[in-house]
Amino acid sequence: MAPQKIPVRVRIDRLARRDDGHLIWTGRLKRRRPYLKGFGNPARVLLEVNHEAIQVRNTCGVERCIEPHHYKVVREKPFKYDGDPRPAWRDPRVHNSGHFNECELEVIDLEVHGLIKGETTEEDVRAVGLKREMLEEIFRRARSA
Ligand SMILES: [Zn+2]
Repeated sequence: MAPQKIPVRVRIDRLARRDDGHLIWTGRLKRRRPYLKGFGNPARVLLEVNHEAIQVRNTCGVERCIEPHHYKVVREKPFKYDGDPRPAWRDPRVHNSGHFNECELEVIDLEVHGLIKGETTEEDVRAVGLKREMLEEIFRRARSA
């Protein structure tokens, strides 16, 4: 009998360990980035990104970190056909991302990363004058990162 195939998330789980808020990849690196054969950066799997025009970029600066909250997801506008919509992607980090439109999600993402990197404080974010639901989402994501 052929060996049972281990689900990719289980494989990633086995090769990663928590460390001070980071999720450290203990598997292979390729060009100094976490690498899982067939998938590329394991953070892509955790972020449910499977389109080649969508890139994931580490924002915490820890080379082996694959914590999804420490990644920025960049959807490139297809340059071949100007005006094509950007590839669709639903952020699995946000339970109710359906409540926010694309523009709001970008603002949320930006503020979350500012908080994680310590470039802004919660006070600063409050001063921006965003909707209450957006503020709650930003703080929830930044605190769980
Ligand atoms: Zn990290």
